[in-house]
Amino acid sequence: MTVKVAQEWLNSCSGCEIAIVDMGERLLDILAVADFVHSPVLMDHKYLGQLGNGKHIHIPEADVGIVSGGVRNEEHVEVLEEMRRKCKIIVAHGTCATHGGIPALANSYTSEEMLQRVYSTETTDAPAASFDEDVPPLLDACYALDEKVKVDVYLPGCPPHPDHVFEALTALATGSPLNLPGRSVCDHCPTVREGKGQLKTLRRFLQSPHYKAPDEPLDKMRCILEQGMLCMGPVTRAGCGGSKIVPRCITARVPCRGCYGPVKQNGNQRLDMLNALASNGIDISSLPETVSLLRFSGAHHQLRPPRKKQEA
Ligand code: SF4
Ligand code: SF4
Ligand code: SF4
Repeated sequence: MTVKVAQEWLNSCSGCEIAIVDMGERLLDILAVADFVHSPVLMDHKYLGQLGNGKHIHIPEADVGIVSGGVRNEEHVEVLEEMRRKCKIIVAHGTCATHGGIPALANSYTSEEMLQRVYSTETTDAPAASFDEDVPPLLDACYALDEKVKVDVYLPGCPPHPDHVFEALTALATGSPLNLPGRSVCDHCPTVREGKGQLKTLRRFLQSPHYKAPDEPLDKMRCILEQGMLCMGPVTRAGCGGSKIVPRCITARVPCRGCYGPVKQNGNQRLDMLNALASNGIDISSLPETVSLLRFSGAHHQLRPPRKKQEA
């Protein structure tokens, strides 16, 4: 017997959909136990019926609904609510869906400011007024899925590693337990940590971390944070290395930027990172800004416009 799977993308860059295809030949194993009944990125489907004359969005019923992207406009809300109605299990697929992702960085601005920054040029006027009436109206912010509907399974990552997409789909299709990594990036990082040192301030990531030779094993390189560069490993959920475990950016000898979101679903990467730095004796006032500590997890009201802008 196969389970029915519906897949949707909201405020998505399509990287999460590519992670599904990136399972490669394992996709054939998935197709043996799962029947994709809806996936706009893979197959044709008309929301409002084949002639486009339906009144409401229609998505077929499914056992599992995989949704990527955050919720940014009214159409996203409508599609997400229809997925919730039609699917027994909703999977938040990717960090945009679990925590808002990169688009939620714009939550530091009102929608009007954001449109002005993005679309206005010296030769155009107020951009919001020029939108066609058929374009779905924006919400006041970019939301994670669980701010709008109940979510059953969280699969963070920008995008999630195909190994974990495969594990999650297999578990959901066969009813077997789903065991995703639950610790931090640091817990899977092989670099050398020497403990609290003399480091008092951080420097900008303008040069590569120090290592002796290109083929030097990672377990001989000193921790990038201890080298004085901001690495989000301590406050970021593990998993980006897939079954190979070693974090991807560390493999490339660059700092973790936090793309898997906080270690715990309701964690706050900015507060957790500032705490981690301060408790290691680093002067957090030396950071030029802290908004970027939430560059992948600004939903759940963690990033919002300053109050005076909201009231204006
Ligand atoms: S989580 Fe990353 S890959 Fe997935 S839709 Fe968002 S930006 Fe794209
Ligand atoms: S801070 Fe970065 S480099 Fe250091 S152990 Fe953690 S992930 Fe590795
Ligand atoms: S090391 Fe950090 S930023 Fe890089 S892929 Fe992994 S979780 Fe994402």
